[in-house]
Parts: sequence; C-alpha cells; structure tokens
Amino acid sequence: MPDTADSPGPVPWVAMYHSVGDRTCDPYHVTVTPERLARQLAWLRARGLRGVGVAELLAARARGAGDGLVGLTFDDGYADFLTHALPVLRRHGCTATLYVLPGRLGGVNAWDTPGPRKPLLTADGIRRAADEGMEIGSHGLTHIDLTTADDTVLEAETAGSRAALADLLDREVDGFCYPYGRLDARTVAAVRAAGYRHACAIDPGPLTGPLALPRVHIGERDTAVRLLLKRRLHRLRRRPVVGV
Ligand SMILES: [Zn+2]
Repeated sequence: MPDTADSPGPVPWVAMYHSVGDRTCDPYHVTVTPERLARQLAWLRARGLRGVGVAELLAARARGAGDGLVGLTFDDGYADFLTHALPVLRRHGCTATLYVLPGRLGGVNAWDTPGPRKPLLTADGIRRAADEGMEIGSHGLTHIDLTTADDTVLEAETAGSRAALADLLDREVDGFCYPYGRLDARTVAAVRAAGYRHACAIDPGPLTGPLALPRVHIGERDTAVRLLLKRRLHRLRRRPVVGV
C-alpha cells in the first residue's frame, strides 16, 4: 500500500474527544462545540474517511478492511454526549467508543479540580448510547491515576468496572481507556488480566500495542489544516502496533 497521508498506516488513527457543548468555561480544553465536531466529521468525510468505534476499527483492520476508517473516542461519559455528540455522529454516519465511569453514574467530573462541573451519563443514558450503536468501554470506576493505585484498587478499577458495565449493558465490554492517559507495564497487565481486548492511552511510547493505543487529542481549535498535520505527525511519531 502506498504510504500516503490517507492510508491507514501501521498504527490506527484514533481521535480523542471529551465533552461536546458550550465552551464558555473550559479551562482544561476538553470541550468542542457541536458545530466544530460537525465540521471535523465533514472534513473526514470529504477525504473519504469515516469515524467508527475502536472495536470496529480494529476488527476491520484485522481483516484488511481498515482503509477509510478512523477511530473516534469520547472520554469520561459526559451527559452532553447524548444531546450534542450523538446527533452529529448520526448525521455523518459515524459511530464512536464512549469510555464511561460506572463508579460515577449520574455524577460529575469531580476529578477536575477546580473547574466547571459537568454532569456524567446515568446508567440509562449509557444504555441509550449503546442502543444507538455506540461502543461502550470502561474508563475505570472513578477516574484515578492507575499507576498510583494499590493492587486491590487497580483490580477494582479494571476488572471491577468491566463487570459493572457488563451487568449494566448485559453484554461483554472489550474496551478500556486509561484515565489521564497514565499507564505503565503493571496497569497494562491488569487491563489484560481483566479480559479487555483493546485499550486506549494517549502517548504510550514503548508500551504501544492493542492494550495501549495512542490517540490524538482533538480540540476546538483543530481546523482542517491542523487535523491534517496531526494525522501526518501521528504517522511519523508512532511505532507500528503488532497484532492490530
Ligand atoms: Zn478521562
């Protein structure tokens, strides 16, 4: 396959979003407006690309059908996913993986201090997103840095959150996402032991693999030109992922 900016390359291209909505107070730069998301998805579509969840992306790549697909992920499970992201995704024929926190159902992003409180999805909201064709993955139970957790907490955040989500959704949960993108060999081993088949990080360096997939943060300021540069940079910076 020619190594062009639009070929999938050795590492899947996975975009990382958080909240979609009003940006008047956004100190952590985790929010994009629905209008910006729509423009970014339209930009992908104009280049023959379509956003899908991580499981679908990896399955397509495994059978040699990953051309034209990019991963879309939304971290933390904000309630605005249903009201602001889902309609835009649907309009553009995209799906995504939504990483939720079963230990904070119906809660808020209390881990971001200080900062505006944003409501998180309830159990019903998560089920609704799943019913709309979105992949649901675990972001742990409560959004802690897993590299500082003791063994009991680490198991609860990985295996425990997977069991809680399987219970909530009545289906297996294959995807995990490391809070803050922080991981080490021990946390990756815990994610593997918990039974996850893929996991997203941010910039996992030498740990890169199916259980430590790099992602590109996409923000409000990412216009078409910046997206193109990020896509190219991603291809230069990342090591090949074996087995994906
Ligand atoms: Zn998060």
